[in-house]
Order: sequence, then structure tokens, then C-alpha cells
Amino acid sequence: MSDYKEYRCDCHKLLFRGDLSGESSVEVKCKRCGSVNTYKAS
Ligand SMILES: [Zn+2]
Repeated sequence: MSDYKEYRCDCHKLLFRGDLSGESSVEVKCKRCGSVNTYKAS
């Protein structure tokens, strides 16, 4: 069992699961509502 986090859009659609580390950041466009969400490692 992984400990990947789930990243969800404000509209609650699941965008992806993953483990952001270091200086990583990702930008994901929601296919449901079209908003662009940016996530950075915390
Ligand atoms: Zn959305």
C-alpha cells in the first residue's frame, strides 16, 4: 500500500495521486471544470 496523496480539484474531482518531493511542482488542468491547479511539494 502506497502512501500517495490524493490531489483533488476544488470541484472535488480526483486529479491524480502522487508523492511530490523536493522542488517538484505540477500543474494539472481539471477535465471537469477546466480550472488549472498547481501543486508544490510541501
Ligand atoms: Zn475541477
